[in-house]
Amino acid sequence: MFGPVVASAGEQLANSIPDLAQLQKMTARFAPTELDVDISNLSDGDSKALVKLVEAARIIDYIFMMQYWSGDLELYAKLQKDTSPLGKARLHYFWINKSPWSELNGNTAFIPGVPEHKPLGANFYPETMTKEQFENWVNTLLEKEQQQAKGFFTIIRSDAKGGFKIIPYSEAYKADLTRAASLLKEAASLTDNATLKRFLTTRAAAFLSNDYYESDVGWMDLDAPLDITIGPYETYNDELFGYKASYEAYVNVRDEQESAKLGAFSKNLQEIENNLPIDPKYRNPKIGAQAPIRVVNEVLSAGDGNHGVQTAAYNLPNDERVIAEKGSKRVMLKNVQEAKFEQTLVPISRRLLGGDEQDRVNFEAFFTHILTHELCHGLGPHQITVDGKPTTPREQLKELYSAIEEAKADVTGLFALQYMLDHAQAMGLADALKPARVFEKRLYATYLASSFRTLRFGLNDAHGKGMALQVNYLMDKDGFVVRPDGTFAVNYAKIKDAVRDLTHDLLTVEAEGNYAGAKKMLDTLGVIRPQFKQALDKLGNIPVDIEPIFVTAEKIAPQSAAPHRQ
Ligand code: ZN
Repeated sequence: MFGPVVASAGEQLANSIPDLAQLQKMTARFAPTELDVDISNLSDGDSKALVKLVEAARIIDYIFMMQYWSGDLELYAKLQKDTSPLGKARLHYFWINKSPWSELNGNTAFIPGVPEHKPLGANFYPETMTKEQFENWVNTLLEKEQQQAKGFFTIIRSDAKGGFKIIPYSEAYKADLTRAASLLKEAASLTDNATLKRFLTTRAAAFLSNDYYESDVGWMDLDAPLDITIGPYETYNDELFGYKASYEAYVNVRDEQESAKLGAFSKNLQEIENNLPIDPKYRNPKIGAQAPIRVVNEVLSAGDGNHGVQTAAYNLPNDERVIAEKGSKRVMLKNVQEAKFEQTLVPISRRLLGGDEQDRVNFEAFFTHILTHELCHGLGPHQITVDGKPTTPREQLKELYSAIEEAKADVTGLFALQYMLDHAQAMGLADALKPARVFEKRLYATYLASSFRTLRFGLNDAHGKGMALQVNYLMDKDGFVVRPDGTFAVNYAKIKDAVRDLTHDLLTVEAEGNYAGAKKMLDTLGVIRPQFKQALDKLGNIPVDIEPIFVTAEKIAPQSAAPHRQ
């Protein structure tokens, strides 16, 4: 666990600050990529509202920087005045990270004169406050105050008497939130979409009242050509307690074509469930309502949504009251996925796949599989019986559940797409999955290439571990093969059966709530074998992620008093 003490600024100086060449290398891990979005189909009102939303989102960058570190804005202003090559490089990398700490290097400092690591509690708490001090203080408070002290939307500051006090976000960031709120209200008056109008109006009110509940409900109901997420959401930057939410914004435009495909797939989910390769007694005769999914293209991201590795999809809100009442919603950023695909997956495939296989690596196939992966989380066993008692796979598989469930969604996604390809005419999917014969080969080749991309992030997260399990299983069944020249390829004669077998095994582990079985699979297969290690070593200087350049946002709302843009 994290240590309790956070050093104050200046106390812990970083001992290895990168020089210009090192910094350029670190920065090159993020490939600059233009996000150009087609906004020509927006109504007149929405086009005007979009400008206001971009302006509101830009304010979020500043609020976020205030939340991240007490010295962040001051350092940012200082860096903008340094015109030396090193100064410019620092400013550039600072803007990518929105701080002097490099996210890809465990949040260590790359600029001198700042704490060696990002403060664990960010700027949500006094920098010198310990966990123990906080907890002792909270214990002296009344129940209602305790909730506020631990709440999503307050910061903690020292008071004059040597204790602490609670300040709501609406006070702490009052000036910026007031400006953002009035831009949201302007946008609300311009749009002709009722769900967007309602969300913007209630969110503007929340910025001033600090009560986000009603606007979170409004966000769940938001379904509009112009799509936005703006507010305090994720709590990852509060590494001390995980209580405090960081401000972020995503200004998006709905992708009509992918939304239609999603609708077409969703209609066929019960039939796929009825044909899953498991014992029929484990199939669900009536699958529940799916959580809503929106497919959008990102015009601008800001704040917590734009530092370090870029978000490609998110599930919100986090407020349990809203989730209990309305569930949560998943938003998939298609153009961000595409940018990552072009900058990382395509170069990976050029190095590791044979020539014919490389040509099959295809974004359409990649994105369709990701969509299907999301839908497949809803398929398979969810309510199970173990020793005569009702339970869930999550309860039974405990800490192994995430890796197994992610692998299940991936491989069931392949199975489901193959099923839909085989029955495209009858299921009314001929248009969505054309050209079928080509699509099938693209699907598996692209999946093989993307497995290397996931493995590159390591086995620490559930996706990486689950991916290792899959590729090793599919290699063992000859679905994937290594050619004599060291390149990887799909064995099209065997891959379908291998996928079907793995789908069966993973779904059965979940249906039985079989912890020992899951552990055995992950222990033997959730590893990086030597041939994969060798392959991953060849990927050295391929970018890890993208640095988005928001050309559409810049076109419609140029930044005159330009805060730094590269
Ligand atoms: Zn998933």
